[in-house]
Amino acid sequence: MALRCVYTDLDGTLLGKGASLFRDGEGEFTLLPARALEACHRAGVEVVLKSGRRRAQVMEDARLMGQSSYIFEVGSGLVIDGETTWLTGAFLPSEGRTVHQLIAETGAPEMLLRDYAGRLEHHSPWHLDREVSHLFRGSVEVGEVNARLEGLRLVDNGEIGAGTHAYHLVPAESSKAAAVERHMRARAYPPEHCIAVGDSREDLEVARCVGEFFLVANADPSLHGEATVTEGSHGDGFYEAVVGSLMGR
Ligand SMILES: [Mg+2]
Repeated sequence: MALRCVYTDLDGTLLGKGASLFRDGEGEFTLLPARALEACHRAGVEVVLKSGRRRAQVMEDARLMGQSSYIFEVGSGLVIDGETTWLTGAFLPSEGRTVHQLIAETGAPEMLLRDYAGRLEHHSPWHLDREVSHLFRGSVEVGEVNARLEGLRLVDNGEIGAGTHAYHLVPAESSKAAAVERHMRARAYPPEHCIAVGDSREDLEVARCVGEFFLVANADPSLHGEATVTEGSHGDGFYEAVVGSLMGR
């Protein structure tokens, strides 16, 4: 397989402790993620970040890595060579109103905080200054919540502490998988020339659009049966997935 593109999540995948590119899951210094990025650069393989983070954050992270495409806010937005495409269905920013404001106007964020009080709260301080998703933390049954939502969905973006998960409330159409598919089409990358790496259920959905999907070892064990799991955690697992794929393993 001639690898053309790697789609990777940031937190819990490419980044280690403290969201550092140069730390493994335990906080030890590691160059493996950087080595993997170097290997991609030498082989002419594009690396596309796909994250739940805000646009400004993912833009800077992509720039640090010398990349011109990135996916932000759980696939709500895709940037290719400076051009932004919103993948938010009917929730399109207009007349100075952001998707975040449009979602607020549905009343859904208020309803969630009220009906799941004690189980869901704002993921402070990261819930501020957002363009798209309303960000929460806590512990809820996502399927149950989503059955009550219309035109929106709550995405479980993984565990951030013992039993506590981060959740993004996004337009129902937004997903990392849809954004990856859109990027592949724009670049004319065949699925078998692409891989993806991640640690969450939302990442795992990308498996259906790419040639091979890798879960890093620190991913929730309940997901392990559904994809190739690397031996290494975080960025070390990313290195394994990338280098193995480049060697055509
Ligand atoms: Mg993650």
